Amino acid sequence: MEQVQPQLPAYPTIFSLQGKLALITGGGSGIGFDIARCMVQSGARVVITGRREQPLQEAVRILADSGSGEQAYYVVNDVTERQSLNGLVETIETTYGPIDILVNNAGVNMKKPALEVTDDDFDRIVHTNLNSVFSLTRACAQRMMARKQGSIIMISSMAAYYGIDRVVAYAASKSAVEGMVKVLASEFSGNGVRVNAIAPGFIETAMSKTAMSGDPDRFARAMRRTPIGAFGKPEDIGWAAVFLASEGAKYITGASLPVDGGNSIGF
Ligand code: NDP
Repeated sequence: MEQVQPQLPAYPTIFSLQGKLALITGGGSGIGFDIARCMVQSGARVVITGRREQPLQEAVRILADSGSGEQAYYVVNDVTERQSLNGLVETIETTYGPIDILVNNAGVNMKKPALEVTDDDFDRIVHTNLNSVFSLTRACAQRMMARKQGSIIMISSMAAYYGIDRVVAYAASKSAVEGMVKVLASEFSGNGVRVNAIAPGFIETAMSKTAMSGDPDRFARAMRRTPIGAFGKPEDIGWAAVFLASEGAKYITGASLPVDGGNSIGF
């Protein structure tokens, strides 16, 4: 007897973010901006945040031109002001509607030999890359779980996977984020909220330019460790984020997706 297969959703539809609202921290530049661009192109509305108004204004202008209507908004917010984050989520939801997708992208790095890193240095990096990520995630997840749906994406780093000299606080913060993803996925996914990480490799942004500066051989060494043999583009992270946020990834939670040109293979 011939088995009747249920109809699969149409190919572009399954990856579409039509009707979704995404909150992307640090969305005014670099990787965050391209996550916003890719999400807008996939049909989502996006709210981007950052500490400075001017780059956010400019980013929203570009996003508005690339979308098919009013799809991008900004809120000036410093994620390290953790007491502001519940209010941020409330304001966004009141003004623009329920947040379906949270991308914890804002992050800072600092290159120093470990013995020169002060307690203040260490705290500053961990405060931005880890503590604030937890607080904002908690604020969004409470609401998402009540609605029984949501996707949370942490932008981690290959620095979480293996030792890279002179980024002790950064690596500690990103490794902790990877651990947090697994716990939160375990606690939230039964209530319809998936939690995943993307671990970028070398991506062309202001942050990676600063990391490479002052060391002319650094680029060549990085490329020797990268089978694809080139830096990634911010949009490479953007499309991975679209996938993880989409229905096509509905059975993926607690995962960390390397987007690194093969760097983490560890050859
Ligand atoms: P950039 O420095 O280019 O951009 C960082 C963005 O975050 C900026 O828009 C900045 O805006 C915002 N930001 C920084 N601090 C805060 C804060 N306290 N509150 C709100 N926004 C803030 O970095 P990338 O785009 O390269 O990095 C984005 C993410 O990707 C980071 O988490 C980083 O760790 C990760 N990553 C990047 C890699 C790379 O090769 N580029 C590799 C691996 C991971 P403003 O200054 O106006 O606040």
